[in-house]
Amino acid sequence: VLEVRNVGMSVGGTTILIDVGFQLERGRTISVVGPSGSGKSTLLRCLNRLERISSGSVLLCGVHTDTLPASALRSRIGLVSQKFALFGHLDALANVTLGLRRTRHMSKPAANEQAMEWLNRVGLAGLEKRRPHELSGGQQQRVAIARAAALEPDVLLLDEVTSALDPELVEEVENVVLALARSGTSLVVVTHEIPFAAKVADVMLMMDAGQVVETGSPQDVLTSSRPRSQRFFARHLR
Ligand code: ATP
Ligand code: MG
Repeated sequence: VLEVRNVGMSVGGTTILIDVGFQLERGRTISVVGPSGSGKSTLLRCLNRLERISSGSVLLCGVHTDTLPASALRSRIGLVSQKFALFGHLDALANVTLGLRRTRHMSKPAANEQAMEWLNRVGLAGLEKRRPHELSGGQQQRVAIARAAALEPDVLLLDEVTSALDPELVEEVENVVLALARSGTSLVVVTHEIPFAAKVADVMLMMDAGQVVETGSPQDVLTSSRPRSQRFFARHLR
């Protein structure tokens, strides 16, 4: 569903991504790990063109994404990030229906029905009338995931969706991501939680200094013989 070919990205003379390539099969999950500053978020932002790539190409269902209008692209490649930008004045239900009404042009009853179904799937049935400030961080993040997933994008990108959460809230959000992965959503999951990265993904990818330095099954990547990768995993699996 997604093919990334030799993607390079530089800003003002600084190279951020170098020759990044991978393929995501429909219904599969790729996790992306790597040190802070290695380019993980930039890579995700390049995929839905919040950043411009300098070289290479990104294909969605075989089509070069640079031929798609940005709005169409972003409705087909969803992104949820660490800072869940919910609309504070809207309740959970309206946060989810807004995109369905605007980008999917759904009728109000149809949007409500689809939104309720997704709120239910992320374990928020009964909380749909609450506004963001009346929800915990984990609940807010689950609304953000429901909002993105309800649009049924071809690919959903998740950038450290648990890293702004208190430790006791991490698991509830990880469980939602696991359920999404198992239900056949095509996902790219960036996370610092290495055990979760290994558990959720079919393919694990490790970035370092803007390059993909490891790719393969989680088992293979975790047992890499590359010293820098070993040190990284040793630090993160303690
Ligand atoms: P973290 O794990 O801390 O989230 P990351 O792997 O997501 O890190 P990025 O946010 O992609 O890393 O940043 C990669 C590098 O690119 C960093 O050195 C960052 O400072 C730099 N960078 C990112 N965006 C820009 C920009 N617009 N202009 C200049 N430098 C940038
Ligand atoms: Mg990041």
